[in-house]
Amino acid sequence: PRRILSGIQASGALHLGNYLGALKRFTALQDSGAPCFLFVADLHAITVWQDPALLAAQTREIAAAYIASGLDPATSTIFPQSAVRAHSELAWILNCVARLGWLDRMTQFKEKSGKHKERSSVGLYTYPVLQAADILLYKATEVPVGEDQKQHLELTRDIAAKFNTDFNAPGFFPLPEPLIQGPATRVMSLRDGAAKMSKSDPSDQSRINLTDDADTIAAKIRKSKTDMGVMPAPGDVLDDRPEVRNLIAIYAALSDTTREAVTAQFAGQGFGAFKPALADLAVAALAPVTAEMRRLMDDPAEIDRVLKDGAERAAAIADPVVDEVKKIVGFWR
Ligand code: ATP
Ligand code: MG
Repeated sequence: PRRILSGIQASGALHLGNYLGALKRFTALQDSGAPCFLFVADLHAITVWQDPALLAAQTREIAAAYIASGLDPATSTIFPQSAVRAHSELAWILNCVARLGWLDRMTQFKEKSGKHKERSSVGLYTYPVLQAADILLYKATEVPVGEDQKQHLELTRDIAAKFNTDFNAPGFFPLPEPLIQGPATRVMSLRDGAAKMSKSDPSDQSRINLTDDADTIAAKIRKSKTDMGVMPAPGDVLDDRPEVRNLIAIYAALSDTTREAVTAQFAGQGFGAFKPALADLAVAALAPVTAEMRRLMDDPAEIDRVLKDGAERAAAIADPVVDEVKKIVGFWR
């Protein structure tokens, strides 16, 4: 049976990349009838410092974004990662399955630790193993993510396969398929076509936040980096125009069409025509999501009910799996 699983870190304000690369995809999968498990990754968030006074609110905000973007808590299981103890428990066991050499190759750690590798938390290093636990605990078959998570998904498959072999448990963990789909699997920064749009980018101008109002969105798009050229024609190679390619991908994803169709529509026009059209589209797509998020955040009781109920439903699946794993490993019972 199909089981979809994914998560978003409770590490700050959500942005357009999270919306197009993750939230919008989750909703499409749910609406296609697949059972979805979506967690708020608070254990992942603390791999870098999070203010304890804000973490619970950040968690509720991601839950609000799930619901506001169309996920139905009655159908989809929405829960805080830390509320299901099995995540941490399985992560430890998988830490002993994963190899140091595998983790040494992870590019996200290299990017996030930057010049200060020795001052990064050990959690930031072993983050992809926790991610493997998140997925394998539910024996998920498909994991919708942005392009940046592709390498971590491959690691999850390697860990699953090694566990199955090491413990002579063939097929115990199914190997999950990454779902990296649509025109906007890697939305780039509005200021730098070589950097991913990220929550953790210090520049607010680099991203469109789900909480930005219409004027802010329009201003950020107007000021977004482009070049001296005009909109490309179909067939033009955009390798040296990453910012332009990015705006076209965003337009395509927001209007549920292809990059080719957008290129055909705007070929030869100036950015003075394209950017306002893109801003209108972004505002129209995000305004209802933002409004619903605000409404939900005004009454945390509703979100808390969803998270509590989701945690119970998730634990009902995860706890027996971690119990089986402990038996397979040979722990005293
Ligand atoms: P952080 O900077 O704290 O890592 P983030 O913006 O990368 O935050 P995550 O919570 O790590 O957000 O990722 C949540 C989901 O959003 C993942 O599936 C990830 O692949 C996807 N995602 C993140 N950034 C982008 C982006 N720029 N374009 C498309 N998808 C993205
Ligand atoms: Mg990230």
